[in-house]
Amino acid sequence: MATAVKRREMFIGGRWVDGSGSETQEIINPSTGEVIAAVPKGTEQDVDRAVQAAQKAYPEWFETVPKERSEMLLKLAEAIQGDAEQLADLESTNVGKPRSVFLSEEIPPSVDNLRFFAGAARTLEGRATGEYMRGYTSMIRREPVGIVGSIAPWNYPLMMAIWKIAPALAAGNCVVLKPSEWTPLTALRLAELAGDIFPAGVLNVITGDGEPVGAGIVRHSGVNMVSLTGDVATGKEVAKAASQTLKRVHLELGGKAPVVVFDDADLNAVSEWVKIAGFFNAGQDCTAATRVIAGPRIYDNLLSSLKTSIESIKVGNPDEDGVEMGPLVAREQFERVKGFVERAREHGAQVVTGGQPIKRPGFFYAPSLVADVRQDSEIVKKEVFGPVITVQRFADDNQAIAWANDVDYGLAASVWTRDIGRAMNASRRLQFGTVWINTHIPLVSEMPHGGYKQSGYGKDLSIYSLEEYTNIKHVMVAIE
Ligand code: NAD
Repeated sequence: MATAVKRREMFIGGRWVDGSGSETQEIINPSTGEVIAAVPKGTEQDVDRAVQAAQKAYPEWFETVPKERSEMLLKLAEAIQGDAEQLADLESTNVGKPRSVFLSEEIPPSVDNLRFFAGAARTLEGRATGEYMRGYTSMIRREPVGIVGSIAPWNYPLMMAIWKIAPALAAGNCVVLKPSEWTPLTALRLAELAGDIFPAGVLNVITGDGEPVGAGIVRHSGVNMVSLTGDVATGKEVAKAASQTLKRVHLELGGKAPVVVFDDADLNAVSEWVKIAGFFNAGQDCTAATRVIAGPRIYDNLLSSLKTSIESIKVGNPDEDGVEMGPLVAREQFERVKGFVERAREHGAQVVTGGQPIKRPGFFYAPSLVADVRQDSEIVKKEVFGPVITVQRFADDNQAIAWANDVDYGLAASVWTRDIGRAMNASRRLQFGTVWINTHIPLVSEMPHGGYKQSGYGKDLSIYSLEEYTNIKHVMVAIE
């Protein structure tokens, strides 16, 4: 299905409709560079149609009780589980993900996330009921925010869409979802599955570019909240534009995760986990283990161990057996990664392994390890978002923490040591929304995921996320 060029429509008000404009967007398979589909390039008018459909659905959706919403989310979880093979075809063809890795690492957490929010929907409650002034009873109600605009990135198109729609729908909001213009196929399939379960207009999916569709959602006065997962620069634009209507903003942005390796760390565990966490999804992950900051004595051995484990990564087409890493998502991303490594090399960095494109069709780049980089260099400070990691040697613990914190991002970090006090002290001093100790990358539906600093604000996953999709209302009753 994904390999035939197919024109897809948008899902608005429970119906498949053409975009209001005539333009379409070609969707590319990054493993081959071939066009595999075309979707409508949405317009501001399409945004308005979708918002109106959501507004029309909202009054009845507002009347649903948590149990009803919960049952629908559970049905959607089942539908996704049952559709895993087709979703894998779409995602691996559109994003270049190894098919088997998508089935084992992205479908289960996506299904689990829907199930978690199905359960969590039924736990929402106001915290206080009592008399805080003589003669009056106060209570807290938690209510949906209303119409939520969800804007998703291309690196985990299905999973990020679910992270956004699950808490929003669980809390009783209606949603207008915009997938990335590069990777809309699984979001459209998600709409198809959800369309059989949710009332018309509760979930709408519209396709198109950041401007006018994403920005149109942010500008629209009928949208009460915008949740974006994307680049820091996009987050700033969204926050600025949202200020015109003072809508709530939830921003999950980029990262540049440090991996702080003290001299007493388990070297084999570090290199195995960095192989996974640095190169999963071809390194196109906001929590990817990108900056190894290693102790003075472990550094040399770690560098050679990392080289060996990185060179063992099997790169290939998404449907080949045993493939661990596919291509980058698009030519632009490929050029971006290539540029970072070329500039680092020009500035004296040593490319220990990789550091070049792989000669085959599509947008493949070799898993790369770069050493001899300065703390103030671009490759250390900026998000590459590809299969490239750097290694630095620190002199003492204070320098390790200072370097780890010395970036604009603050999404995730890891610390590696056998000394529990050192680990706990580091986890306290690291300015990141997630700190792992002796591991890197696992997430669970029950625990929050979100940034410090320019990695954004607001949390995905967990009850904290559900609460963000609600308003708190104080109701006060005169009782005398
Ligand atoms: P991007 O910012 O280019 O695009 C994200 C989405 O925003 C797309 O749907 C895009 O069309 C839309 N958009 C672009 N300009 C817009 C505007 N002015 N107004 C409204 N919407 C607009 O990001 P990307 O390249 O798709 O994704 C990669 C980025 O996402 C990386 O920086 C990565 O770190 C980040 N990311 C963060 C998390 C997290 O949880 N923090 C998770 C995944 C990805």
